[in-house]
Amino acid sequence: MSHKSRIEADFTCIVCGWKVPALAFGTRHRNHCPRCLWSRHLDEEPGDRRISCREPMEPVAIEVRADGEWAIVHRCRGCGHLRANRIAGDDHERSLLALALRPIASPAFPIDDLRDPG
Ligand SMILES: [Zn+2]
Ligand SMILES: [Zn+2]
Repeated sequence: MSHKSRIEADFTCIVCGWKVPALAFGTRHRNHCPRCLWSRHLDEEPGDRRISCREPMEPVAIEVRADGEWAIVHRCRGCGHLRANRIAGDDHERSLLALALRPIASPAFPIDDLRDPG
């Protein structure tokens, strides 16, 4: 084994208080809470902790990538920075679905009349 320059540590979610284990199936650098999906603006590159912003990042959308993999789009409450993060193997499926369905649950335009306007 090569020497690890940085120790991955468990952390406590700043939003919901969930104790988040550092390691999860499907991700090397956990950057969001599997329960509420909030993140924190810490990294420039995954795991580097070089951003001094440190504000919470709100999950605002699901992005579906070309290979069908889901990613969570986070927006920083402090600086407005947008970033997509891979989901982790133990992210709560209900939280992911609720996020994916958000625009359908509260559409930005009326959907009670879908007849062809032409
Ligand atoms: Zn949380
Ligand atoms: Zn920020």
